[in-house]
Amino acid sequence: MIYTPDTHRRLRAEQGIGDLWELEADVCIIGSGAGGAVAAAELSRAGWKVVLIEEGSHFIGQFNNDEFAMQVRLYRDAGWVLSENQTLSILQGRTLGGSTTVNWQTSLYPPDYVTNEWRDRFGLSGYGRDEASGEFVEEVHQRLGVRLVPDHLVNRNNRILLEGGRRLGLHPHRLRNNNAGKCVGLGRCGLGCPINAKQSTFLTWIPDAVQAGAIVAPNMRAESIEDGDVKTVHAVFTPDPFAETPPGVIQEMRIHAPVVVVSAGALEGPALLQRSGLGNDWVGRNLKVHPTSQILARFDYEVDMWHGPPQSIMIEDGHNQEGTGYGFWLEVSPLRPSLTAAAMPLLGDRAIEELRDYRKLSAGICLVRDGADGETAGRVSWSGGKRKIEYTMTPTDARNMLRGLKMLAEVQAAAGAKELIFPFFDMEEPLPVTPESNFDWILSKSTATNTFGVFSAHPHGSIQAADNSARGAINPDFELYGHRNIFVMDACWIPTGLSVNPQITTMSAALRAARKLASQKGERLLDSA
Ligand SMILES: Cc1cc2nc3c(=O)[nH]c(=O)nc-3n(C[C@H](O)[C@H](O)[C@H](O)COP(=O)(O)OP(=O)(O)OC[C@H]3O[C@@H](n4cnc5c(N)ncnc54)[C@H](O)[C@@H]3O)c2cc1C
Ligand code: SF4
Repeated sequence: MIYTPDTHRRLRAEQGIGDLWELEADVCIIGSGAGGAVAAAELSRAGWKVVLIEEGSHFIGQFNNDEFAMQVRLYRDAGWVLSENQTLSILQGRTLGGSTTVNWQTSLYPPDYVTNEWRDRFGLSGYGRDEASGEFVEEVHQRLGVRLVPDHLVNRNNRILLEGGRRLGLHPHRLRNNNAGKCVGLGRCGLGCPINAKQSTFLTWIPDAVQAGAIVAPNMRAESIEDGDVKTVHAVFTPDPFAETPPGVIQEMRIHAPVVVVSAGALEGPALLQRSGLGNDWVGRNLKVHPTSQILARFDYEVDMWHGPPQSIMIEDGHNQEGTGYGFWLEVSPLRPSLTAAAMPLLGDRAIEELRDYRKLSAGICLVRDGADGETAGRVSWSGGKRKIEYTMTPTDARNMLRGLKMLAEVQAAAGAKELIFPFFDMEEPLPVTPESNFDWILSKSTATNTFGVFSAHPHGSIQAADNSARGAINPDFELYGHRNIFVMDACWIPTGLSVNPQITTMSAALRAARKLASQKGERLLDSA
């Protein structure tokens, strides 16, 4: 059952629960996104008594077009998680289903050169599409209804990449989305799909887990994990910022379980382990974010970039710069008016003038596979009672970003853009595009982090897996080194940048790890008997 705040009063009356709900389980899973929901379903189906807690709320038929309210209710820090130096902003879901409830449905799995690197550098084998992982990826595709976006749903925003890329001799290709063919192109993915076309985890693995007997408690934030043969997860009620809290809600939960699975995402997961005093020095280190920058291109027709499925075309010709395996890829972003205003790098009247032409704007984005210099300069830490994120781009990653922005400008110009608004803070005016436009100058822009805008929707890798505790925080089965029966199953395990979007990787790896854990039920639960 899903214990939303509305159900608490009845539950308390039926079961004699006070402000504190103390319960025993086989496993407590923290976080209901791409990793946690899959783990909950898999373990419940294998007969484990599962308690899944989620900090955010459960929305039933309440997704609407109010950008401000939806951002506040569905995203962590209302969509503005900021790095300590305030140069990077990160989008993260905070709702039942986590980021899968708000993501843009691009469904990809990393290429071989990435999975080979996991094997060779970190001892993580079997992740290639042609290896054991292939079957988990396939199973995830089936459950999510992953399929090619049909041509008639490729919107004008994405067609800019398609047409501009083709004119330059690049290789733009159509993407797969996860909506079981039910998408009608309303363009509301980032605010929650109102017709439940997008197959987020609150429509898939969470119902599977509930059907198999799991207790799912939204609006409960894990504050700490106490280790021991039986562990204790302490959680507190977190109200929805836009809904009145019903009377009689349970204020605290204490879940006692021999096994804990942390699936709180790449920012909150390390912070939770650190404030609980768990894990080695790799917890929080080597945070990857796929740093993303954008060029707003103005056309002489209405692009309406919010309309239709957000992402249906990608250009990956820049993936493998100079054969290093590191590089960039190009997509578009479905910016609605509020995000466009926030992302507009111009100031004052100039910005307002451009925003008046919102319908003619297209947001092209360049995402970098970060980590080209061995390790990123990214870290999550819990200090002074606060989760802190440090992130600057390393020199090679920053150079790859400039290369990507150059290619993106060329693509937009080839597609007929009339002017381009660059993310560089020293450019106060849009740049008109002419037949003579040349964008080589981009390569000589500064690579310093505070000279252009960067955002992310893909934080990952901050509790990385490796076959050795000198190189990672969790082992290849995702168990925390030094702490038996504490697992991390979400985007945290991924030890390098992916070169593609992360939801399928997170889900298929969680499926593989949870299935293995499920098969060890006897031995794992015996520890506590
Ligand atoms: C706007 C947006 C667009 C995206 N588009 C794509 C895309 O098109 N394709 C793609 O592949 N990927 C995309 N992603 C990324 C993808 O959704 C994530 O990589 C993936 O969901 C990560 O899974 P996760 O389990 O690590 O974290 P999440 O799915 O974010 O889940 C973590 C959950 O844990 C909860 N939590 C955190 N701390 C606590 C705590 N202390 N107690 C209880 N609960 C807690 C959070 O509230 C959250 O619900 C996008 C992400 C965003 C935000
Ligand atoms: S584009 Fe619209 S209909 Fe399609 S999945 Fe997204 S929100 Fe749902």
